[in-house]
Amino acid sequence: MEKSLIPFNKPYLTGKEVHFINDAVSTGKISGDGKYTRLCQDFFEKKYGFGKCLLTSSCTDALEMSAILANVGPGDEVIVPDYTFVSTANAFALRGAKLVFCDSRKDHPMMDEVLLEKLITSKTKAIVCVHYAGDACEMGTIRSLCDEHNLILIEDAAQAIDNYYTTKDGKNLPLGSIGDLATFSFHETKNIISGEGGMLVINDESMMDRAQIIWEKGTNRTAFFNGEVDKYGWVDLGSSFLPSDITAAFLWAQLNELLDIQAKRLALWNRYDSILRKGENELFKVNKTPAFSSCNAHMYYITIENLEKRKILINHLKEKGFHAVFHYLSLSQSKFINTYQEPLDTVNVNSEFFANSLLRLPLFVELSLSEVESIAKEIINFFTYVK
Ligand SMILES: *Cc1c(COP(=O)(O)O)cnc(C)c1O
Repeated sequence: MEKSLIPFNKPYLTGKEVHFINDAVSTGKISGDGKYTRLCQDFFEKKYGFGKCLLTSSCTDALEMSAILANVGPGDEVIVPDYTFVSTANAFALRGAKLVFCDSRKDHPMMDEVLLEKLITSKTKAIVCVHYAGDACEMGTIRSLCDEHNLILIEDAAQAIDNYYTTKDGKNLPLGSIGDLATFSFHETKNIISGEGGMLVINDESMMDRAQIIWEKGTNRTAFFNGEVDKYGWVDLGSSFLPSDITAAFLWAQLNELLDIQAKRLALWNRYDSILRKGENELFKVNKTPAFSSCNAHMYYITIENLEKRKILINHLKEKGFHAVFHYLSLSQSKFINTYQEPLDTVNVNSEFFANSLLRLPLFVELSLSEVESIAKEIINFFTYVK
């Protein structure tokens, strides 16, 4: 009999989404910047002490807003991780900047902060760090480098909702509160979702008014409605970055259950870890959350000795009824970038390693602990008997 496949991801619904959407619809104002948009933005500003928050249609949009806000253009360089989603880099390519790719750490897909200083030139305008798997980058080092060289720091916190960086003196700083700007995603594959959705956080006060204008298609609409200016017109670059209040109402239902969702994901994450960590050997390794990061259970991944083994394991798991996936090829080796700018003459070896060896396991709220146990045991079996 054909076994039904346990998917890699299944979007979780709290059950309150339609209720809040109905309410949004009944108010008669369903364009952007309505009641639910404000509720969601306030939630983040209060809970995490973020600067100004603006909901966007996606994290990609928030990154594109960041690139406009950072005044990045031709002749400027922006440092991004080599191992990341396309949008992290694409937002800056859209403005004509040159991209400089930082390799991953040997022990983690996140950018290796030790390599950054060598990549900074007189043309560098910004550093974009990605909290891969939700794990905090080494923000102490990265923040000081940006301050020292007068660079704008942008956190791509797409995967990093409700997570923290621990400073040397033991303080926990929420991810998204450390950069001048930070971007979040509520895509259906993330911990908290609205189908498509995202948010820009503006921690640098000098960028807040301009962010509002860019968000409102380059107009001073907000200042006009607040009575601060007497004409409403085109004052800057911008686009339609804001989501409708229907999307925000969906997100509000999710945010109301944030703690519960995080706790459920963490229990699953811990169950994977308790089994797989013991079974680790030279053929596969479990992921290692750095000591300076807490864990938000966004992703459980393992690394496998090589590409061929990974392919066989994916097929093996599929036969057993489990869908595991890999992602990200090094951006520096992508087809597009090598037509956009001078190709790199070296390969970022750690980024290549993760591109070839990383495997993400199913992790979603409705997955059961016993399903996690079956997947983890199947992986151990594979490396013990099948290989
Ligand atoms: C998911 C993701 C994005 C894109 O988010 P969207 O909301 O789909 O635009 C960007 N960067 C990283 C690191 C991501 O994981």
